[in-house]
Amino acid sequence: MALVVSKGKFVSEADSNKMNRASINDYMVRVRRHIHQFPELSFKEFETASFIESELRALGLSPRKVAETGVVADLEMARSGKTVAVRADIDALPVDEESGEPFASRNTGVMHACGHDAHAAMVLGLAKELAERKSELTGRVRLIFQPAEESPPGGALKLIEAGVLEGVDYIIGQHVTTDLTVGHVGINYGYGAAIADHFTVSFTGPGGHGARPYQTKDVLVVASAYVMLCQTIISRMIEASEPAVLTFGTFESGFRYNVIASKSELTGTVRAYNPAVRDLIRDRLRKTHELVCKIYECEGNFEYFEGYPSLLNDRTISEVVKEASEAVVGKEHVEFPPPTMGGEDFAYYLQRVKGTFFRLGVWNIAWGKIAGQHSPKHRVDERSLDIGERILFESFRRLSVLE
Ligand code: MN
Repeated sequence: MALVVSKGKFVSEADSNKMNRASINDYMVRVRRHIHQFPELSFKEFETASFIESELRALGLSPRKVAETGVVADLEMARSGKTVAVRADIDALPVDEESGEPFASRNTGVMHACGHDAHAAMVLGLAKELAERKSELTGRVRLIFQPAEESPPGGALKLIEAGVLEGVDYIIGQHVTTDLTVGHVGINYGYGAAIADHFTVSFTGPGGHGARPYQTKDVLVVASAYVMLCQTIISRMIEASEPAVLTFGTFESGFRYNVIASKSELTGTVRAYNPAVRDLIRDRLRKTHELVCKIYECEGNFEYFEGYPSLLNDRTISEVVKEASEAVVGKEHVEFPPPTMGGEDFAYYLQRVKGTFFRLGVWNIAWGKIAGQHSPKHRVDERSLDIGERILFESFRRLSVLE
């Protein structure tokens, strides 16, 4: 049995590893709860970034701020090898927390409801473990703490423009998910998240008395026709094997039961994996708007905003992270969930560097009805921090020597 010195005493290597594990887990829980208590909105992560920076300094690293509220730090291992970037997003959401946790948000109206506090804690935990074990490891890690994942155009592009991918061979990231219970991990080969665009359309024309519609253009009816026509784009014009979603999220028109409105405004979102499918949906939305305006003799505006691109995982790197996950949670707990139609700006890194984005199960079955990401009741089973950090570590170990 190998003996190592710990706090001046000889202990077995297994006991020493257990003690190290406990100290990394205690560390992650502490930093996660701190970040959770003081959540900040996208591009306003000033305190969070300063906290992360000082934690990294305390671990002996030399972090630097990028794009105001981002933090980046490199750490060299004993032997030279690949540079592997690990990214955590750090922003919170405008949600009023109802989780009931003793360490709930102290910033009213702002909450880490998407688990980015956990992401940051796990990458800090990784920093701690790598700093302690660098003598036995190869390569270099680049830790990226990224602002503003929740607010397109997002923080990723800003960080990329600031050079965070320079010299990076591979990149990995993760997202907590309540779709999987703690102890389970989700791997996606290929697409992992969708294109997430949004649009605003309006119709304007003379309104009037509810009893005399013939004197108006009744743009409320016009907008209703538009919604119904557009809802055939996906069902009738897109190949069934291509995932796509079109949702109208708001429909505003009118102010009184017997007055015909002079304006209708609709907003919505488009989701797809394939950019060609997105282009088709956008073009049909625009064309339908033009034609509906023509048929009903009214005016209107059409504005379309491109959001994050689809997230495309590299097959080889996904395979490596799958193996790392199996080493941590066992083959039977690694799942292959369908990719989400949600958006994620990690996609931008993957357009430039090979990598993958995996899902970390954080829900505890005993908690009952699932409170998903962005819910005010969202919670993270903190046992998942241990698992996520170990997967990052095992992935780094494999990728740092991958040719
Ligand atoms: Mn998120």
